[in-house]
This record gives sequence, C-alpha cells and structure tokens, in this order.
Amino acid sequence: MPLVPLEETRDAILAAVPRLPVVTVPLADAVGLVLAADIVTAEPVPPFANTAMDGYAVRAADTTGASTGAPVRLAVVDDLAAGRAPEIPVGSGEAIRIMTGAPMPVGADAVVMVERTARDGDDAVLIQAAATAGDNVRLPGGDLEAGQTVFRAGTVIGPAHVGVLASVDAAEVPVHRRVRVGVLSTGDELVERGPLGAGQIRDSNRPMLRALAAAAGAEVVDLGLARDDEAVIVATLEDAFARCDAVLTSGGVSVGEYDYVKAALDRFGVLEWRQVAIKPAKPLAFGVVRGVPVFGLPGNPVSSLVSFELFARPALLAMMGYAECRRPEVVARAGHAFTRRTDGKVHLDRVRVTWTDGGYVAERTGRQESNVLSATAAADGLALVPDGDGTAEGDPLTVMLFV
Ligand code: AMP
Ligand code: MG
Repeated sequence: MPLVPLEETRDAILAAVPRLPVVTVPLADAVGLVLAADIVTAEPVPPFANTAMDGYAVRAADTTGASTGAPVRLAVVDDLAAGRAPEIPVGSGEAIRIMTGAPMPVGADAVVMVERTARDGDDAVLIQAAATAGDNVRLPGGDLEAGQTVFRAGTVIGPAHVGVLASVDAAEVPVHRRVRVGVLSTGDELVERGPLGAGQIRDSNRPMLRALAAAAGAEVVDLGLARDDEAVIVATLEDAFARCDAVLTSGGVSVGEYDYVKAALDRFGVLEWRQVAIKPAKPLAFGVVRGVPVFGLPGNPVSSLVSFELFARPALLAMMGYAECRRPEVVARAGHAFTRRTDGKVHLDRVRVTWTDGGYVAERTGRQESNVLSATAAADGLALVPDGDGTAEGDPLTVMLFV
C-alpha cells in the first residue's frame, strides 16, 4: 500500500466529515461551541453614561485653573453609589460624590478622581485639578452600540464571549451542536482495574481518548472495552452508529491475525485504509458510516494519541463548525540533533518546548517508541521532523503545540 502524505490525509478527512446541525443552547453551555448566526445587540453597552472612577461629578467649567496650590471649592449636594438613579442635578458651583459605575447626574460632564480632591467638611470638596468635559465618563454605547453586530457567525465562544453575550442579554445562542463521540477499546489483553493476569495490560487508550475528546469540546459516550471478537465489535459499532456523531476505536487495525476491528469496519463498507507517511501512527482506518465518521486508531498508545491529534481532533472541530481546526504551529530551534532514518515519513517526535534566548527550543521528552506514553505526557507538542538524515542542533523545526 503506498504511503499517503499527512496533509492529503487530513484534507480528505476534513472534506468528508459532516457539519452538525444548529441548536440553541443556554449561554452557560456554549463555551467551545461555534456561533451559527450573527449576534446583534438591542441594547447599548454600557446602557447609560457612568463614571469610570470614584470621585466627584462636576461641571468641568467650574474647575478651570484648579490645582493643589489653588483648589476650587464646590458644594457637595449628593452621594451616588453604583445602582442608584441620580435624583439631584449638579448645578454651577456644585459637585456630587460618585462611585465607579454610578450614572452621571444631570448637569455634570466630568468626574474628578477622588485622589485629586480633599474633603472640606461635610458639605464641600476642594478640587485640586482642572477637569475637561468627558474626563472619566464612560459613554452609553462606548463598548457596543444598540443595533451593532456583536459577534459574527463562525465565532468560537470563549469565556470572554460569554461575558459579552451576557452583557447584551443573549441568554441563549444558536450554535453548531457539540459533537457526541463514542470511544471503544478493543483487545483481549486489556483489563481496566484489579490485578493483571498473565499477558494482560491495562486499557490506557480509552481513558486517554475520552479525555482528548472531552478536551476538544466533545460530549463523550463510553462504548466500553470489546474483546477481539468480530461479532461483538460489529454489534457495538451498530449501537454506536445509532447514537453517536463520531466514533473512535483503538486497536485491531494493523495487519495482525487478531485485528478484528479492521474486519468489523470492512463489513460496514466505505472505509478507507490508509498508510499515512508518518511515524508513529502510520495505519489509519477512516470512513463515514451512516453519516457517522469513524476513526480506527492504532492500538499503541502513542500512535493512538498522535492519530487523534492529527486526524480525529480536527475532524471533530470541523463537525462543530470550526473554521480553524488545527493546532497552532511554531518554528523552534532543535535543542539537539534529531537523528532518524530515511523512511519517507514525517516523524512526529514528542517534544518539550521552552523559550530560550528569544526563541523556542524543542527537545525530545524521552524515548520515542510508540508504547512509551509517559514521554508523551511530558510533551508540549509534536515536532514534525522531516525525512532525511537528521536535523542538526539549532536547525529550524516545526512544532505543533498542544495548546
Ligand atoms: P493492536 O493494534 O490491537 O495490535 O495493538 C497494538 C499494541 O497496542 C499492542 O501492544 C496492544 O496491546 C496495545 N494496545 C491496544 N489497545 C490498547 C489500549 N486500549 N490501551 C493500551 N494499550 C493498547
Ligand atoms: Mg489488538
């Protein structure tokens, strides 16, 4: 089977996965989802003119020439806290004590911060600095004007977006639905808990893939641990295709005698078996069964993670409406020689990235075999080590960051 380049494989997958339908969700559930319509505010933000400082609301004209040595004395006629509507206007020669966020009283056009004033008895204040109209006043609509488009369709909602949307009373928002991802482990050697019998290892992929999917914003459906039995795997997948938007399986996709996932997926047809020109994670099964993308990820834990990162994660994001589905990449300097053999593949070495002498430096986190997951846990990203007889220390190296 010919090796297919990484980019070509990823592009084909992104083109094949469906976009999920639009639903309306409460704002609190919208983080990580993508807006499906423009959001227009009916209200201005802030809704009224208010003070940015604790101080005294004044008529700027009254403070002309004021300084510490020659302060202007104004009569204090009221005290305004945030949340209170002003009742008394500020007349000539008058001021109102005012707290941050309180509405500007009629007549006042500036606020002198409290640090530039000195109280003069109960009823007066000495203004020690001249104010200009508009000083420390936040205008209505200064952040967002009524009728303004707040966010466009396609915006990924983050915590700050939630704050902005709350400020314009958008309690529910139209978004592309959160992808529901089923995760299945396969292998007779796998156990979850308890003592290990002869030849047994623990299932680390399913907890990891569940965590990876959840971190990508997916809702996870645990499909459990299937024995190496084609009928069991087929039945589990039947059920999964009925209730999931996407399915991740681990193990059973290489060319071993007991690779029943491959056999089971073949029964559903429309599966592509690819040998991707990467190491680790060369084998990949991908297909769309009854509208549900399925990723047959390799069983070796590092391969499983790398395959998820390169193919499944971008696909899940694309399904949720993301325009930018890939991890960010930076160019780092190789912290040491990245020796490797020439094999026609991009090697995805697990690296730690530090900021050293004004640039990123990438160093391997440990052994690079595809079963050594601990070195992956220590990594900040994957270095895309090009084919050829090695990258020397100091050479530029593209790193896909896990951020
Ligand atoms: P397979 O692709 O099923 O032949 O598995 C390749 C390697 O990955 C074997 O050493 C398996 O024991 C191991 N493996 C498969 N599934 C898992 C899993 N869920 N957790 C940890 N290791 C696994
Ligand atoms: Mg297996």
